[in-house]
Amino acid sequence: MEAIRIITLLAVYFSLPVTQAQTKKTPSLIPSQSVSVAQGQVARWAGNCLRCSLEKRAWAPVNGTCYYPVDMDMKPGAYTISRRTTGGKLETATLQVGFKECVQEDLKNFPKQEYVNVSAQNQARATKEASLVNPLISFQSKERPAVFDLPVGKPAHNLPKGEGNFGACRTLNGQPRDRHTGQDYPVGMGKPVLSIGNGRVLLVANHFYSGNSVYIDHGNGLISEYFHLKSFSVKANQTVTKGQSIGSVGETGRVTGPHLHVGVRWHGACINPGYLLIDPSDMPAVN
Ligand SMILES: [Zn+2]
Repeated sequence: MEAIRIITLLAVYFSLPVTQAQTKKTPSLIPSQSVSVAQGQVARWAGNCLRCSLEKRAWAPVNGTCYYPVDMDMKPGAYTISRRTTGGKLETATLQVGFKECVQEDLKNFPKQEYVNVSAQNQARATKEASLVNPLISFQSKERPAVFDLPVGKPAHNLPKGEGNFGACRTLNGQPRDRHTGQDYPVGMGKPVLSIGNGRVLLVANHFYSGNSVYIDHGNGLISEYFHLKSFSVKANQTVTKGQSIGSVGETGRVTGPHLHVGVRWHGACINPGYLLIDPSDMPAVN
């Protein structure tokens, strides 16, 4: 009996300092690993991830890999990212965000006059539409499970090279306008617009600036946006599959001519959709 008590005391005695030493030690919490990304880009941390976090925000991995989308307006600097592995280990790294200068676009002789001098009525309409859309594309603390895979599918058959105007800083007849939140592709009038992945249609609407618009939720906080469509072939809440036609290319809303505008929000970050079309192994990775 006495022997058992001594052993128990010894076990308690030795277990305490070890636990404390482990807590104090924790060299793994000092990031020695890092990844550098530009605004609008995506970083990844591959393998055996259970949970991913960027500063105070956390989300699930996709097929065991953590992705860290960086908003086009995220302040350049060093951020802490972490991942919990399937082995229960917490690892941290530094996400170094670099400044990406915006392409300057000056639109002159804009054909649609209602967008040159926006009436109070249209301004009110646009504000109302933004208040409807913003909650859908903002960061959500709980996301649906991912139903997409990477790289995502092309938003049109024989997709031409993008206009390179993601994040462009724009002026219209010299007056400053909001940054361009997507990538424009020179796809012809009436051509089918394809969902970039499996998902569920969040919203189908005609909006002042984006014209006929479709928003699709692909799970894991990934939302894709398709603007200026001529027609729709889906309805809200409908389930869609990768490559499914969701409408046709048009010139509705604030445009100078027919084209396909594709935007992507991931965990609330506005990123260049082109980075989801590349092989994920080509994304900047933590090492
Ligand atoms: Zn556009």
